[in-house]
Amino acid sequence: MTELLHMKDNYLQQFDCRVDAVGNDYVVLNRTAFYPEGGGQTSDKGTLTDGSRTVKVIEVKKVQGQIQHRIDGTPFEKGVELHGELDWARRYENMRFHTCQHVLSRYLQINYNVETKGNNIKPGESRADYTPLESFDDEMKRTVEAGVNEILDQNLSVEIRFMPREEAISFLTERNYQTRYLEMVPKSVKEFRVLIIGDYDVASCAGTHVKNTSEIGHIQIGKSKNVGAGVRRIYFRLIH
Ligand SMILES: [Zn+2]
Repeated sequence: MTELLHMKDNYLQQFDCRVDAVGNDYVVLNRTAFYPEGGGQTSDKGTLTDGSRTVKVIEVKKVQGQIQHRIDGTPFEKGVELHGELDWARRYENMRFHTCQHVLSRYLQINYNVETKGNNIKPGESRADYTPLESFDDEMKRTVEAGVNEILDQNLSVEIRFMPREEAISFLTERNYQTRYLEMVPKSVKEFRVLIIGDYDVASCAGTHVKNTSEIGHIQIGKSKNVGAGVRRIYFRLIH
């Protein structure tokens, strides 16, 4: 099992590790700070080096419970000690986008009673799907943009806490947050990673986030479209 360093520290940019297993075009490490694609968030990229040879990490994926770092070059041998470094500009942008998506989702939930169905967090432009949301005209777009930016400007702290299942459920219940998604997580998962954004939002999420909403800048909502069954896909960018 790979130790997931990014679960506890989203700001870790470099780390030492050892090759635990090797595939045709990938390595499995004993520990990693690379975020594997999942929960709607795109994979990290970066480099791995043994001191004499440096290879690019193109993609990180979880395949049957194994975290595979797909690399551009011949994989290192099992047992080799490596140093990993993230493409930090890419990761940090994902952190800003992902945290912003939580605020956007919460804003839409509170003000329009819509639920988040999915998301795609990646540099440049991210998106999330909301339902029921048939129409989203320019006036509503401007209202949502201004509302979300007002929240971001409150410089809310973003905290990560690990809680046993029952504690996480009651933590959310006491604060009137929906626990439906937590309860859908398989019973085998005993510990939840709870994200707390000031007094505005609480969610269970394994993604990467910034420490304060002041790091996000402002949201700029772009186009949106219906993707069927009352679900609307909203695209957004970040501006400083
Ligand atoms: Zn998240």
